[in-house]
Amino acid sequence: VSEIKRTLPHALTSGGLSNMSFSFRGNNPVREAMHSVFLYHAVNAGLNMSIVNAGQLTVYADIPEDLKNRIEDVIFNKREDSTERLLEVASDVVGEKRVSKEDLTWREGTVEARLAHALVKGINDYVVEDTEEARQSSTRPIEVIEGPLMDAMNIVGDLFGSGQMFLPQVVKSARVMKQAVAYLQPFIEAEKDGTASTNGKILMATVKGDVHDIGKNIVGVVLQCNNYEVIDLGVMVSAEKILTTAREQNVDIIGLSGLITPSLDEMVTLGKEMERQGFDIPLLIGGATTSKAHTAVKIAPTYTRNQTIYVSDASRAVGVASKLISKEHRASFIAGIQLDYEAVRLRTANRTPRGTLYTYPDAIKQKPQINWRDYQPTLPTKPGITVLDDYPLATLVPYIDWTPFFITWDLVGKYPKILQDDVVGEAATSLFADAQALLKDIIDNKRLTAKAVFGLWRANTVNHDDIEVYADDGAKMTTLHHIRQQIQKPGASEELASLADFIAPKESNIIDYMGAFAVTTGIGADELAAEYEAKLDDYNAIMVKALADRLAEAFAEHLHERVRLEHWGYAADEQLDNEALIKEQYRGIRPAPGYPACPDHTEKGSLFEMLNVTGNIGLELTESFAMHPAASVSGWYFGHPDSKYMNTGKIAPDQVESLASRKGLSVPELERWLTPILND
Ligand code: SAH
Repeated sequence: VSEIKRTLPHALTSGGLSNMSFSFRGNNPVREAMHSVFLYHAVNAGLNMSIVNAGQLTVYADIPEDLKNRIEDVIFNKREDSTERLLEVASDVVGEKRVSKEDLTWREGTVEARLAHALVKGINDYVVEDTEEARQSSTRPIEVIEGPLMDAMNIVGDLFGSGQMFLPQVVKSARVMKQAVAYLQPFIEAEKDGTASTNGKILMATVKGDVHDIGKNIVGVVLQCNNYEVIDLGVMVSAEKILTTAREQNVDIIGLSGLITPSLDEMVTLGKEMERQGFDIPLLIGGATTSKAHTAVKIAPTYTRNQTIYVSDASRAVGVASKLISKEHRASFIAGIQLDYEAVRLRTANRTPRGTLYTYPDAIKQKPQINWRDYQPTLPTKPGITVLDDYPLATLVPYIDWTPFFITWDLVGKYPKILQDDVVGEAATSLFADAQALLKDIIDNKRLTAKAVFGLWRANTVNHDDIEVYADDGAKMTTLHHIRQQIQKPGASEELASLADFIAPKESNIIDYMGAFAVTTGIGADELAAEYEAKLDDYNAIMVKALADRLAEAFAEHLHERVRLEHWGYAADEQLDNEALIKEQYRGIRPAPGYPACPDHTEKGSLFEMLNVTGNIGLELTESFAMHPAASVSGWYFGHPDSKYMNTGKIAPDQVESLASRKGLSVPELERWLTPILND
């Protein structure tokens, strides 16, 4: 650097290049960038011949702006501290580049070694040419699958099983496998060579009324790459379709998935149907709200002819499937599960509820005391309904909370620290880079559309737990129903709260306000995912949905901020960065129906009506009150400084009765929706 600084600026600006020679030694990205910045300016200064190693040049336009400026400061000796300033960033740049620098020496190995490398590393750039080469050197095309490809997938399976490989890497490996197999398929068929034998046939579906399928799709990929044939029926699949297909296709196992609580009931229905129709194959249960307890207590007893098994995550699926299929291990595995589930059932039956159960009237007496007399509600600057059509996606990106994105891919750790994690750091970094590339494509090419609708209205609490919402002129629009905590946990506060406590009671004569919102970023997601699936790229198909989900949560966060700052305006001078937003360090909450503070999903029906969500932004509700498209969020806005997220916990029959009569539903009907919080 000091050599350059001494001679180059003069040469470049005075045309003295003719008798100069430079050699850039070393081999690292900063050197390459310097070389190309130098050449760029030298050519501008009249250089007419040079000898360069083109392979060691960075494209000038690709050099990051900051690095380019620092290099130019050196080359033109623009500032005293230019050397220090270049060195400051040099180590970062070198570190960054080394990771992504492609090492192609593996291309020199035998075709088997190359296929194995590509599979284990998840590289699909050469899959067709390598598979073709392997095909030509084998007598039958099927041997390529049964030989090198299966061998490599077994390595992947072992590495995953022993915690040396992580889910995103496995899904990338599976992509290579799928593309290789697809390439061979026509040759296998042409030779009427039969099909490769599989470990077993598994039918998978997200149950009726539910639209969430990221988890199911991941499990499907993991099973496929362990040589199971997966018949995936998609989302919102009725029990009838699942069971008809299972019979027609003679499957070995059925796997059900669901995310929202009403899906738990649908799984019980399916168990009963399997019993009634005389099925005798194992039933696997998975998804966010499912649990071993629910499976053991509620589903397994309905289906007695075979075993129902809860599968907690994708890494367990293969182990469970292989034991169920294995003639040798099956009986002892099932016997173990049965013992375990019987113990769970006993524990549940004998459980004495932790805490004191209050009658509903007594619980009301324990409501949080809010001093309404001194409360001054903020009048929204823009009351009524606002629709945001085609909202710019780029605006949402800074609001993304990335930590849950990694959880989706079974990588645990807080972002951004996870990128440096000793164990999962490399997998996380590579996953994150892939996510950024896809996100850029989605934004640049408008592959997803974001829409929102929200409203702010006058509101008052009546009957303690109902909220009346009024139009501008004070006419009652609708009544919302909330649920009050009835169990006081030992050591917890004396208060038994309900979200309705955070709105001024009608008898206070205070005109209070509340809001509701629905956002979606899922318009286009299914189509884009399908495009990737058609290209046998499950990795990006899953990534599309994971990113759409992130954008939806980011939209909810961003919109909430805008509402606090502008539309409602009660926190006009709030200034919070994304970390503070993620920690919810603002005034007010946006609880979502179906979540612990308001677990009654049916209230989403009122929310959708109040905002005409379907008419305004095309978002729909399924019969189980799941939102479709899946990448959507809806909820209420509460602005009172005391309002907080909470968990209603289990409730007693007296509150169910009261709620049923207030909602105009029969008790059994309401109980069906509230199953997860009934204290039975
Ligand atoms: N930043 C996170 C947000 C997770 S919480 C992310 O990007 O995933 C997401 C939403 O769930 C909250 O904004 C709220 O709408 C809802 N929520 C969380 N806890 C709740 C509770 N106890 N009751 C009701 N809604 C809740």
